Amino acid sequence: MSTQNQSLPATIGNLQEVDAGMQFNEVFFALAILAFVILVIMEKKRPYRHFTNAVGKASFITNTTAFVFNNILLTVLRASSLFFIAQQFSYIGILSGLSSGPVKWVLSFILYDLAIYVWHVASHHYEFLWRFHKVHHSDKSFNVSTGFRFHVFDLFLEIPYKCLFVIIIGVEAHLVLAIETVELLFIFFHHANLSFKKEAALSNFIITPSLHRTHHSADRKEHDSNYGIVLAFWDKLFGTRKEVVPGKIGLDIIEAENFLQLFFLAFVTERHIRKILEIIPKGRKRT
Ligand SMILES: [Zn+2]
Repeated sequence: MSTQNQSLPATIGNLQEVDAGMQFNEVFFALAILAFVILVIMEKKRPYRHFTNAVGKASFITNTTAFVFNNILLTVLRASSLFFIAQQFSYIGILSGLSSGPVKWVLSFILYDLAIYVWHVASHHYEFLWRFHKVHHSDKSFNVSTGFRFHVFDLFLEIPYKCLFVIIIGVEAHLVLAIETVELLFIFFHHANLSFKKEAALSNFIITPSLHRTHHSADRKEHDSNYGIVLAFWDKLFGTRKEVVPGKIGLDIIEAENFLQLFFLAFVTERHIRKILEIIPKGRKRT
């Protein structure tokens, strides 16, 4: 019966659901911003790591500019696309046979978190994806605003991937927005420049700032680790967990700081830079 309803063209009921989804979207966005503000205040009071004022300021300005240009539009586009796809196709996914309830919600969340973990691993391993994802890693500071610092194409490419998984998993429309909210809150949380009691114990279950700080190390061996977003389980299972305090945060080869430089940075790979340096003749030293 419900399968038939899903395949019917848009009805008034469907439109009301879309409307409810959009309202949920606004709540979702407001919640995320509130969490951001709380974390910024906490970081100011008790920062875990001390960055110079210049680095901290440049990071915050660049990241919030990136947020204004990229995230507002793409977060809304992502949430709307996922809601629409889930509404149309959730009845064909792996979990579609289960009736709606806590078991289905938890399973949906676990599989969705795994899907994002896999995307994150791919973003580090394939040069085509890394060229966009490295913009996120180029921050020399590590603070809650780093959670905004994404290349517009990094966010954009993630949308069809997530839509595909919503169909494969069979996540319900309203649930997908709730899961996205939890994922976004965790992105803010694990980028926070904070440390707290029992963090080590908590990191056995969820991704904490200390684990994600290793992921922002300038050392490639260290930043190719701790890919998880919410659950710490995936890194343990696939052997990608590392618990080290990074010596340096950021990426050595990248000096771009403002938003425009960051945008174009994605189109220049390390290989390009080496080639350019080879072409340019070395100048003679003046005496
Ligand atoms: Zn990463």
